[in-house]
Amino acid sequence: MKSLAKDQAIYAFSSHHEPVLYVQVGDTVEIETYDCFTDQIQSAEQEVTAIDWDAINPATGPIYVEGVEAGDLLKVRIDKLEIGTQGVMVTGPELGVMGHRLEEMTSKIIPIRDGKAWFSEKIGLPLNPMIGVIGVAPEGEPVSCGTPGSHGGNMDTKWITEGATLYFPVHIDGALFGLGDFHAAMGDGEVSVSGIEVPGKATVTFDVVKGHRSDWPLLENEHGIYLLVSALTLDEAIKIATEEMIDLLLPHTELSVSDLTMLMSAVGETQISQVVDPLVTARFFVPRHLLESLGVVLFD
Ligand code: CA
Ligand code: ZN
Repeated sequence: MKSLAKDQAIYAFSSHHEPVLYVQVGDTVEIETYDCFTDQIQSAEQEVTAIDWDAINPATGPIYVEGVEAGDLLKVRIDKLEIGTQGVMVTGPELGVMGHRLEEMTSKIIPIRDGKAWFSEKIGLPLNPMIGVIGVAPEGEPVSCGTPGSHGGNMDTKWITEGATLYFPVHIDGALFGLGDFHAAMGDGEVSVSGIEVPGKATVTFDVVKGHRSDWPLLENEHGIYLLVSALTLDEAIKIATEEMIDLLLPHTELSVSDLTMLMSAVGETQISQVVDPLVTARFFVPRHLLESLGVVLFD
């Protein structure tokens, strides 16, 4: 199996980057990652403000997938997600939803053992290992790994986890894929501005879908499908996610726009991924049972 070490780190998704690994469609790759602080916060005594804040949100990559061209969808299955034994959280002034109430930057080291993240000796939290930053090179100017968009990036979506499959619109031949910013757990919103940030290792398998398009990343898991949309406001992100999902499904059905809209209203769900990054991320979810009732098979 091919593998990539975490020192192959990028801080933006960019069409100008030289690939650090070439893989074929069908290849499985093991990708190691730093945490979102490039592993700079290792103890509770450490001054958080003293770390290098330019070295934030590294992604490991970029990986060039041979045979994947601009206009295709890159299919990425997350086969396995392993996380480190220590996580860290931060919050502070001007950060997250409560930044206006916080007077200083604080961090907390969170040991991970016995299948739980230990916020304190008494508070053991269930793990939901997930990937915060995952995507491909955008068209045009580079996009910081801290910002999400139609290329993916810092989408901080709790369903980007083991067993999920993602589809990314490809803008550049080879896609130039990268990932990083794992969380041992994170709730919808990521309100403090951090999840339980951990280094880790992902095993992913690449595939390509030709002849279909989506303007935004799509996630598929056992529950159904989610369209992940990032915008300046949640209002805008939710509206785009809903409309794009309807446009994605419509050609696969015999339904009118009004019937499909009613079905989306009955069982589809608008959901919030994160509200703290430079663009916010919302998703529209359609359950698997509806896809089955409609006989929808996407991208086949
Ligand atoms: Ca993140
Ligand atoms: Zn993170």
